[in-house]
Amino acid sequence: MINPILKSILFNKCPKCGKGDFFIRRNPYLNILFQKGDYHKNCSFCKLKYELEPGLFYGAMYVSYALAIGLGCFLLLLFLAILGKESSLIIIIIISLSILIFSPINYYLSRLIWLNLFVKKNPKP
Ligand SMILES: [Zn+2]
Repeated sequence: MINPILKSILFNKCPKCGKGDFFIRRNPYLNILFQKGDYHKNCSFCKLKYELEPGLFYGAMYVSYALAIGLGCFLLLLFLAILGKESSLIIIIIISLSILIFSPINYYLSRLIWLNLFVKKNPKP
């Protein structure tokens, strides 16, 4: 059985009940393209107001930064082992493109991780 916090983060679910969706579209790329990254204001199941206080999601920037740095470090070590130090310009380009390509997923995960830090689990509506 999957951890309820992990389930909420990975499957776009309400951090409180784990049933209602957080983002309007489940696909992070389509959500950014068509919904401009918007999310539901309240959970459709337990009616939890997602923005607990004004500006709550500014803090998700820290999570987003950590995720991007983590991805960059992982790719740096991976490509240094594969290509060696001589290809550092290619490695920098690969890392930059990867961070750009994964930014919708990063946006998606960072908001859900940040929200899960502040909402207590309670499966009953
Ligand atoms: Zn809910």
